[in-house]
Amino acid sequence: VLSCIPGRTNLCSNHSVTTPIDLPPDIRSSLDSLDLEGYISFNDVHNASKDFGNRYQLPPLAILHPRSVSDISTMVRHIVHLGSTSNLTVAARGHGHSLQGQSLAHQGVVINMESLRSPDIKIHKGKQPYVDVSGGESWINILRETLKYGLSPKSWTDYLHLTVGGTLSNAGISGQAFKYGPQINNVYQLEIITGKGEVMTCSEKQNSELFYSVLGGLGQFGIITRARIALGPAPHMVKWIRVLYSDFSAFSRDQEHLITKKNGFDYVEGFVTVNRTDLLDNWRSSFSPNDSIGASQFKSEGKTLYCLEVVKYFKLEEANSTNLEVEKLLSELSYIPSTLFSSEVTYIEFLDRVHIAEIKLRAKGLWEVPHPWLNLLIPKSSIFEFATEVFNNILTSNNNGPILIYPVNQSKWNKHLSLITPDEDIFYLVAFLPSAVPNPNSGTSNLEYLLRQNQRVLNFCAAANINVKQYLPHYETQREWRSHFGNRWETFAKRKHTYDPLAILAPGHRIFQKAT
Ligand code: FAD
Repeated sequence: VLSCIPGRTNLCSNHSVTTPIDLPPDIRSSLDSLDLEGYISFNDVHNASKDFGNRYQLPPLAILHPRSVSDISTMVRHIVHLGSTSNLTVAARGHGHSLQGQSLAHQGVVINMESLRSPDIKIHKGKQPYVDVSGGESWINILRETLKYGLSPKSWTDYLHLTVGGTLSNAGISGQAFKYGPQINNVYQLEIITGKGEVMTCSEKQNSELFYSVLGGLGQFGIITRARIALGPAPHMVKWIRVLYSDFSAFSRDQEHLITKKNGFDYVEGFVTVNRTDLLDNWRSSFSPNDSIGASQFKSEGKTLYCLEVVKYFKLEEANSTNLEVEKLLSELSYIPSTLFSSEVTYIEFLDRVHIAEIKLRAKGLWEVPHPWLNLLIPKSSIFEFATEVFNNILTSNNNGPILIYPVNQSKWNKHLSLITPDEDIFYLVAFLPSAVPNPNSGTSNLEYLLRQNQRVLNFCAAANINVKQYLPHYETQREWRSHFGNRWETFAKRKHTYDPLAILAPGHRIFQKAT
């Protein structure tokens, strides 16, 4: 266990011990006296002291519930004005779905972005349709609203109860990213409050440096108060298919074939099952195939299997031609022939699939357990070596949660943005998404074991010289952050100095520390 540094966190595996920072009482009263349309509270800090990862407890001093952009700007300017006389920092909080305290501000101010209700979701039709939304808006609300106009954002995450500001600060990656890039690639314009409290509009043409900095910028350069997101025509239905492979090479070859094909599937993902029998059942999906009996009878017999998951969108009137297209696409693949499972659901049912599982897990008290997730971006040139070692030797089971694996095309990703990826035409997202579930008999959980397993995966990548990049990254030291950014570190640090010179924004990432 690390020694205790006042105001910092001692990071143990399943909890964090914090010692409070002494704040002069006049700081609290100065916050209280700000002229706001919304309000500031000092009592409801419990929820904002943790996140979905549920491993850190870092209570803020106060929560700002803004009603307007000017409330946020007033708060940031006030903290800048206090300067080094206070330790105050600011974290915008979407829904707190971060994993390692990224949306927390220990003894600082957390901004509850959901209470920023303006602008209302506003849709612009036309040749290049888009939607204007508040930074605290959740993607599911945007989908429901845009569908009323037959439109939809193009790029998604697997789970829609995340906020615009939260995913645009990271990337927003799902099975459509091979075609449209991540969500950060599908933004026309942003309104930002910088770390100096200035309100700025930015796009590729206006204040482009700020635009590129903020997208994928881990909340370091500004708070997103409004975003203009690209839309396209929405389909009515999707054909949702899963097929299985026992050979990793065949699986990844087919995935790569599909993401480079014109007029192929609209969504390509995949997952690994290690030593499992109930193959098609996992928490993140409501997949219920037409041949449910066949699917339930399929047994993996303890083998490692790879499941390719693909989707074809269609309008109701295109149902017949879609079936033919799908048949043709499937005929090009080399999955195990008896393992084709398919289903047809509405577009919104497909996109909101993880929420069904969330409801079930919440009912059992299993949503709010620790989530020691690890998300990696692996270059194509190393994926075979990675898969061979990790899925055969390091992991002995995946009963604790899904392991996703799918490739994306870098050519569809904007290289100017802050997000760091491996530098190869194709790279894979590999996501280990376990839950540390308490054992009902002993009361202990397997968190330590899962964390050690993550470390073994990272150690293997280091030893094998795999140029892996963490997605939703988490590091303890600036040295590790520098190594994550590589030759883009200088630019990242320079931009920080330009837009947030006192380093007050998004302290939970521990990249920069406020000077006091
Ligand atoms: P928060 O966790 O609240 O915030 C995340 C970071 O962004 C923090 O640093 C915060 O300070 C900053 N931030 C929040 N709002 C703003 C804002 N308005 N302006 C500036 N900075 C801001 N990610 C994917 O890419 N693909 C997936 O498929 C995917 N699936 C997921 C499934 C589940 C069940 C969960 C829990 C997470 C998933 N994620 C996925 C990760 C998700 O993108 C991150 O958790 C992300 O942080 C969004 O969560 P949030 O909106 O609650 O943001």
